Amino acid sequence: VRERSSRAAKLESLGQLAGGIAHDFNNLLAIILNYADFLADQVTGEGADDLVRIRKAAERAKSLTAQLLVFAKREPTQVEIIDLNQVVTEATELLSRTIGKNVELVCRPATGETLVRANRGRLDQILLNLVINARDAMPDGGVVVVGTDSVELGDSLTDPLPRGRYARLTVSDTGCGMTPEVRERLFEPFFTTKPSDRGTGLGLATVYGIVGDAGGTIGVDSTPGVGTTFRILLPLAVASDGTPKDEAAREPAQGH
Ligand code: ADP
Repeated sequence: VRERSSRAAKLESLGQLAGGIAHDFNNLLAIILNYADFLADQVTGEGADDLVRIRKAAERAKSLTAQLLVFAKREPTQVEIIDLNQVVTEATELLSRTIGKNVELVCRPATGETLVRANRGRLDQILLNLVINARDAMPDGGVVVVGTDSVELGDSLTDPLPRGRYARLTVSDTGCGMTPEVRERLFEPFFTTKPSDRGTGLGLATVYGIVGDAGGTIGVDSTPGVGTTFRILLPLAVASDGTPKDEAAREPAQGH
């Protein structure tokens, strides 16, 4: 537990630092983009092509700082009771249109209840990050399965979550898998094995933060050459008899 909390503290201070830099950077990028637009109206020929390049780089930098700001949790979010099943169904439908021809995206929503207390945009972000990572792990194609179900946790010394009922979100792929070295570091901010124009190393750090804030946990199983499965547990927001069940959401697990 102590190792987990020092890790959480490290992530938090990194987040604050990154958030501060991202905020100032964003303002400077807005100025660069403004002047590039302003010049675009006056410049023709080769200069115009260069301006397009400047614009593209600045746009990419802007999307990076946007990710940093989310990671640093500068953006306040509203929490509501939402159906994880619905989020998963809608998000996979949308993602399957953009994921590429050689990757099959399968959605397996639970038949039971999966109401959780969370922010819709953040749940979408979790799914987007996990599914895009799965796709990146399968350059020669494969299958991604996104599923939900619910589980009951009892008292366990090894489990960092309080007892109760949880919604489980699972994202599995048939991709390249990870070595133990990568698996050890994958939630660290800025850790990436992708080329610098593709990976930021912020995707899973963001997912880790969102899940922790919602009182949940994330785990991963991975075998090199076989595939990877991410499992996220989030406290169920409503008991099966329909009564609101706030305790689980209000008491986040230790060390997150
Ligand atoms: P990024 O995608 O920008 O690299 P992430 O934090 O999302 O940042 O992921 C960190 C690293 O974890 C990736 O670079 C990759 O090496 C590894 N990874 C994440 N998801 C998977 C997966 N589904 N299969 C294999 N490796 C993965």
